[in-house]
Amino acid sequence: MDIELFRQEARQWLTAHFTDEIRRAPEDSDERRQWLRQLADKGWICPNWPKEYGGAGLGFREHIALMQEFGAAGVALPYDNGGQSRNMIGPTLLEYGTDEQKAKHLPPIARGEVQWCQGYSEPGSGSDLASLSTRAVLDGDHYVINGQKIWTSGAHLSNWIYVLVRTDPKASKHEGISMVLVDMNQPGVTVKPIRLISGTSPFCETFFDDAVADSVVGELNRGWTIGKRLLQHERSGIAGMGAGGASAARPAGPPRYHLAELAKRYSGSADDGRVRDPVLRDTLIQHRLNEKSYQLTLNRTREENESGETLGFATSIFKAVGANLGKATAELTVQVIGSAGTGWEGNGFSEQEIGAMRNWLGSRASSIAGGTNEVQLNIIAKRVLGLPD
Ligand SMILES: Cc1cc2nc3c(=O)[nH]c(=O)nc-3n(C[C@H](O)[C@H](O)[C@H](O)COP(=O)(O)OP(=O)(O)OC[C@H]3O[C@@H](n4cnc5c(N)ncnc54)[C@H](O)[C@@H]3O)c2cc1C
Repeated sequence: MDIELFRQEARQWLTAHFTDEIRRAPEDSDERRQWLRQLADKGWICPNWPKEYGGAGLGFREHIALMQEFGAAGVALPYDNGGQSRNMIGPTLLEYGTDEQKAKHLPPIARGEVQWCQGYSEPGSGSDLASLSTRAVLDGDHYVINGQKIWTSGAHLSNWIYVLVRTDPKASKHEGISMVLVDMNQPGVTVKPIRLISGTSPFCETFFDDAVADSVVGELNRGWTIGKRLLQHERSGIAGMGAGGASAARPAGPPRYHLAELAKRYSGSADDGRVRDPVLRDTLIQHRLNEKSYQLTLNRTREENESGETLGFATSIFKAVGANLGKATAELTVQVIGSAGTGWEGNGFSEQEIGAMRNWLGSRASSIAGGTNEVQLNIIAKRVLGLPD
């Protein structure tokens, strides 16, 4: 289909259906629920998934164009716990799931009716994930799980969890692992939110005490390969590589933030309208160049990768560089705002100033979540550059 025609039709549909009333409605309102039903009926919550699983069967270019239109219209999609359902377990099941698993689990995701979370990390197994010790043992026709996960983002809000478990304790550490799907609404699963210094809790500890698994994804004891593939989807999402990041990489769109404008507001403009402080000006220009080259490299990689498949080990390059860039943006924003950028709460700070500080603190996590930057560098060294182990 002609992309420009598709883009126009999408824009018209969004103008007609994503009205100001819906845009302004609270997330938990009938208007928003009605909107999400309409979006799901179009197959546009997971637009690139096959129609039989609730998607719209869009090709990669149409998908990118649609995401750009969503970005421009500020479209509200269902809450997805950092992409866990649509962008992580969904594509993994499309690749490795049985027909039965796909038919059971994909349509509720494509309708925004279910929330998934990730049970990978354990108190003693983070970067060295393959040392995990949560066990699953076959009992009759189902696996029974015992053990503990940690840093489970959004577990307290989730219905389902995909879990890496040890199914063959005698095999070498990478070979005895399987990925299982677990319904969280059962007595064997306990979720304890971890309260952070801010008072909120994006993380939980998740305990399994004789919890029953719904099913195993892919082959038994091949979970390491499947778990790593899911991490590539996660890293691709964090790096803004998928179509979901298309609005950020749009060549002609409005910039996401105006660091130079902020700098002029907080530390003044020169007579010629430029940022007054020459050192700060130089830093901002260098940062903008870094951002631009990252976006252009992302765009080029997308174009070269016509299939739209998430890349393999090369996602680690984008994840590591993207995390550093995101941290640098957050840091520069606080620097530009100056002492007003140190506020946590209170009337003395504007919403934007408080947002800048919280964003800076939050940005520190981007080089830890989904595998630390050091781990990404190890993967690049071994799997991309082929250096010795
Ligand atoms: C925002 C956020 C969300 C998260 N969400 C989830 C989630 O939903 N589900 C989940 O399962 N986990 C989640 N995690 C956990 C995350 O995957 C781990 O924090 C991460 O893998 C690092 O593990 P660790 O915290 O145990 O650190 P460690 O593995 O103990 O690492 C400590 C330090 O040692 C370094 N290090 C370790 N090994 C090596 C090595 N071989 N070479 C060089 N350096 C090394 C690390 O880079 C790091 O700096 C989340 C983390 C964050 C920050």
